[in-house]
Amino acid sequence: MDFDFTDRQVHWRDRVREFIDRKIRPAVATYKQQDASGDRWKVIQVVEDLKAEAKAAGIWNLFMPPRSSAHHHVDETFEFEGPGLTNLEYALCAEEMGRVGFASEVFNCSAPDTGNMEVFHRYGTRAQKDRWLAPLMNGEIRSAFLMTEPAVASSDATNIETRIERDGDDYVINGVKWWSSGAGDPRCKVAIVMGKTDFGAKRHAQQSMLAVPMDAPGINILRHLPVFGYDDAPHGHMEIELKDVRVKAEDAMLLGEGRGFEIAQGRLGPGRIHHCMRTIGVAEEALERMCKRLQSRVAFGKTVAEHSIWEQRIARARIDIEMTRLLCLKAADMMDKVGNKSAAAEIAMIKVQAPNMALQIIDDAIQAIVSRRATSALRVKPSHVRSCRAKSRHERPQPVLDVARTERRRYIDQSRRPDRTRQAPRHRGGCRRQARSARGAHPHRRLRALPFGPALHRRRLSAPPARHPRP
Ligand SMILES: Cc1cc2nc3c(=O)[nH]c(=O)nc-3n(C[C@H](O)[C@H](O)[C@H](O)COP(=O)(O)OP(=O)(O)OC[C@H]3O[C@@H](n4cnc5c(N)ncnc54)[C@H](O)[C@@H]3O)c2cc1C
Repeated sequence: MDFDFTDRQVHWRDRVREFIDRKIRPAVATYKQQDASGDRWKVIQVVEDLKAEAKAAGIWNLFMPPRSSAHHHVDETFEFEGPGLTNLEYALCAEEMGRVGFASEVFNCSAPDTGNMEVFHRYGTRAQKDRWLAPLMNGEIRSAFLMTEPAVASSDATNIETRIERDGDDYVINGVKWWSSGAGDPRCKVAIVMGKTDFGAKRHAQQSMLAVPMDAPGINILRHLPVFGYDDAPHGHMEIELKDVRVKAEDAMLLGEGRGFEIAQGRLGPGRIHHCMRTIGVAEEALERMCKRLQSRVAFGKTVAEHSIWEQRIARARIDIEMTRLLCLKAADMMDKVGNKSAAAEIAMIKVQAPNMALQIIDDAIQAIVSRRATSALRVKPSHVRSCRAKSRHERPQPVLDVARTERRRYIDQSRRPDRTRQAPRHRGGCRRQARSARGAHPHRRLRALPFGPALHRRRLSAPPARHPRP
């Protein structure tokens, strides 16, 4: 195991870091000013200016990993323009981007575009790539991902009710989606929509994904959903009605009918690494600010930082950041080496760990900087705090379930035996009754399945525990 960063990792991380320090941080005040003035749902010019500079400098589209034999691509002819960083190489850049709220957009590396671009790259036809991927790659348009629905528990995506019905050469879409992030941006031109093409198919083969133009008749943005009272403009999270939205089947269908789940699996892995590494950047920013503040104040004869409670909190924060980063990098490395599917448990673990870790550190930092405008003094965007809170509380329970199930499965696989067969004889009273109810079989037949006969079984139950000579 080698914990040293490669030259390439350091090179790209430092380029991103340097650009953020030299160009993006000084523009934060302008960003705030432009964000606060005029319409909420608009293009913020300073971001556009910085994008042009980042693109010219070649620090652009860093998130797309190089082609691997493990990834099947529908179309092999389209060339994605980017340096082709591995997940591990990009992870360090994502951490740097997390330190300033809008930085990832400057490098054309922000969600949900990154995940959507990856979907188009892997599952899009050449025509879909020319139409949607090329302008997304150039930073000319933006996109949304429409999966969650208000009517059903969408953490289980098999519940999704949006209907996609075939009508001649078209699909007709009907449903309501919400929490469609990025749909508030006036540049949002395409949405990847998950719905059901076959309600009668197997549970995970009912869903499909379509690329739907946001200006298609029947797409109605009903409202924006605030996150803890903030609109997150100009990005926004929208509730959207799709009413008889008609798209050409050939233009819209991604990968094929019934393959929506397959796409969702591929889409979520890298995005989680990006999000978690950005979250580590947020935590680093909060810790830095907290330490500087604590060192600048004196209480009861020494700096506040020297009081043991703060020493403990600072130490805990550093330990938690380091542990979370190692876990994230391990997940990224596994994705590069053995693929997203094999890294599923690690990806699930970081998804749980990173926001919770950051929340604790931000909470301590707010405590350290006791001021009315705590989060702005922190230089951590309020949306970061909300995002960590939202991600830790409102996200799918799936990551937790995945971690727990993977852990449990290890022991089930290890024993390789029907556990009820083992459990039944341990209970003296009602052992037969239990055996019968466990399998619905006749007790004698049940006992014959044991590695010893019924007589021996009875003897064992009545015999005192065996004594073993002490060594
Ligand atoms: C800021 C933000 C941005 C978002 N952006 C997008 C986006 O761009 N596109 C998109 O499609 N969605 C988006 N979402 C939606 C998000 O993915 C969903 O909120 C999430 O999948 C949960 O679905 P749900 O809200 O329907 O909750 P439900 O499925 O109704 O779950 C409600 C609660 O029950 C818990 N729960 C569910 N099942 C279990 C279980 N088996 N065991 C224990 N607890 C369980 C959940 O954890 C949750 O706390 C966003 C959400 C937020 C907050």
